[in-house]
Amino acid sequence: MKFENTLGFAQKLDGQDPLRNYRNQFYFPKVDGKEVIYFTGNSLGLQPKRAQKFVDEVMTDWKELAVEGHFHSDKPWWDYHERLAAPLAKVVGAKTEEVSVMNTLTVNLHLLMVTFYRPTAKRYKIICEEKAFPSDQYMLQSQVRNHGLDPDDALVEVKKREGENFWRTEDVLQKINEVGDELALVLIGGVNYYNGQVFDMETITQAGKAVGANVGWDLAHGAGNIELKLHDWDADFAAWCSYKYMNSGPGNASGVFIHERHLNKKDIPRLEGWWGTKKETRFLMKPEFEPMANADAWQLSNPPVLSLAPYLASLEMFEEVGMEALIEKRDRIVGYLEFVLHEIDKETDKATFEIITPKDRGTQLSVFLHGQGKSLFDYLMKNGVITDWREPNVIRLAPAPFYCSYEDMYRFGQILKKGIQTV
Ligand SMILES: *Cc1c(COP(=O)(O)O)cnc(C)c1O
Repeated sequence: MKFENTLGFAQKLDGQDPLRNYRNQFYFPKVDGKEVIYFTGNSLGLQPKRAQKFVDEVMTDWKELAVEGHFHSDKPWWDYHERLAAPLAKVVGAKTEEVSVMNTLTVNLHLLMVTFYRPTAKRYKIICEEKAFPSDQYMLQSQVRNHGLDPDDALVEVKKREGENFWRTEDVLQKINEVGDELALVLIGGVNYYNGQVFDMETITQAGKAVGANVGWDLAHGAGNIELKLHDWDADFAAWCSYKYMNSGPGNASGVFIHERHLNKKDIPRLEGWWGTKKETRFLMKPEFEPMANADAWQLSNPPVLSLAPYLASLEMFEEVGMEALIEKRDRIVGYLEFVLHEIDKETDKATFEIITPKDRGTQLSVFLHGQGKSLFDYLMKNGVITDWREPNVIRLAPAPFYCSYEDMYRFGQILKKGIQTV
């Protein structure tokens, strides 16, 4: 399709957008009384309007039923989390029994490491990407130290090549083969938070498994953003947060995937709690742990129903729309944003942009600003464009297909142009 950088063209695309009615189902913050152009769905997704109703339901049940709400509310609390598994499994390409919702992301990565990182004298190394999201780095370093190992020795980072802004699959594969039978685990952010790159998860998973390692994925920037086929790719495990593209609310619960070959095993190493034991016999309060046959076996505590409520509301919307439609719009709106950026770059000469996100991408474009940096970012924020800034000179633009419009992209271009000429 040939794009045009005009309001009329952007509005025409909006008119043809099958998801156009979903924009009104989210709350947009306002700057100077006007709804913002929101590019930070990769950081905190907007609030779905229907979320309030789901939370109110729980509050009302608590008010009216108190402890009886565990079993006698419309959506009983004791297995409330089970309602999330089926729609979430579709988002990540898993079987329902392979998915559970619990805790938060970094906590779940730690818990999954207990199962999937079992270093031996020979096989103890972990491959990750260089400059992984800080929490992942801290998690990995502390895990390694917890096993009495030295992070400098046990953590092997795949680096980008000199002068390049992305990781090459061949370099990841080469590192996997190089570490070979010393490799215990590959754990990478499937979509990099900084440059927006989507890793070739299928190929990397196969390569890791071929040398006998476990392979896990942090999908904080993947869930709700890209096509995932965790089951078919044969990953051992994955975890993601829900407050980014999944629109579930600040700090909300994390999802986990555990491949079915690891399910229903009594002797698998795992930290356990009462919500992981068979629900049929849970309240007999027996001393021995009988694991749930699904990923819920990794659940420790009774679930935080008040947080799961808005997550369930959001998943209902994913269920209605489906990842396929979201991805179709995503590619078109990101393509349009890229076009607008190039047009503005041509029309101005004070600043130049370099899109550092490679072609394997999802919703996010990371743009390196040459010339004007932070002052331009500040101008955008003051003028109703919510984006974020990452050192040294990068703004991240993630037009979430659920609620961003083509008109937003056009208007952003105009504000950007004015900003370049003003600051
Ligand atoms: C957002 C993000 C996190 C955040 O972890 P929390 O435990 O939810 O605070 C972790 N890892 C990656 C890769 C992220 O993008």
